[in-house]
Amino acid sequence: VSVFLVGAGPGDPDLLTLRGARVLSSADVVVVDRLVDPRMLELARADARIVDVGKYPGAGSAAEDQAAINELLIAESRAGSLVVRLKGGDPNVFGRGAEEVAALTDAGEQVVVIPGITSAIGVPGLAGIPVTARGESSVLTVVSGHRVDDDDALPYNALAALDGTLVLLMAVEHRARIAQRLIEAGMDPRTPVGAIERGATSDERRVATTLAELGMVDLRAPAVIVVGAVAAHMGALGQRGGPSSRLEAIAALV
Ligand code: SAH
Repeated sequence: VSVFLVGAGPGDPDLLTLRGARVLSSADVVVVDRLVDPRMLELARADARIVDVGKYPGAGSAAEDQAAINELLIAESRAGSLVVRLKGGDPNVFGRGAEEVAALTDAGEQVVVIPGITSAIGVPGLAGIPVTARGESSVLTVVSGHRVDDDDALPYNALAALDGTLVLLMAVEHRARIAQRLIEAGMDPRTPVGAIERGATSDERRVATTLAELGMVDLRAPAVIVVGAVAAHMGALGQRGGPSSRLEAIAALV
């Protein structure tokens, strides 16, 4: 076993699993993504090699970048290094984890997946939004809003009919179109929406809005957008640093 595909969680290094921290502290090579908090690398050995393969828009095609990452992981593993491939959130939630596992196993290398807290569930949770709640929502759907250029990209009618919690990742850019299509498909324009930018980091920002207003509010990536009745809970914990930050100060102690 020489490659560990580790979920880093949504931001704060404290949200890495104990198993993830253990392998990270033994790694010879750590291959990281853009969404991984640099503070997490303090857990690595001082002499570990850190390779940043963060993908920036326009830095080459996604497929080329991914092939290069796969080759790097295979080469390092063959060279006998203990490799940790650290990915934001959970490696298998819109993280191309499966592609890296397939590339490694096809090349005859062994790989172990260590799950992480996905931003889809953990970021709303930290902001006070339960993604399911008895009597409010018993369905949880997580979708990517990344390739929503054409109108058939998401099954809007099905999503609107579920009447549960809809979590949108990578959806900041196309949020206006997604909201409009969901309303056209029958979703109530007054449906609560909670958006959390840079969740679980020191500059987290929360925006409470509605489906009708989602396209108009100021929002920057990376953000998790929660659509559904449960989003109304976001106010309960208050803004970070705001009047109810005492609760967060208490949470920081535990
Ligand atoms: N594997 C990751 C998701 C990768 S897709 C996971 O399980 O969390 C990248 C998207 O995840 C971003 O566009 C954003 O929608 C969301 N995301 C990841 N980290 C986030 C964070 N700290 N705060 C808000 N959104 C985040």
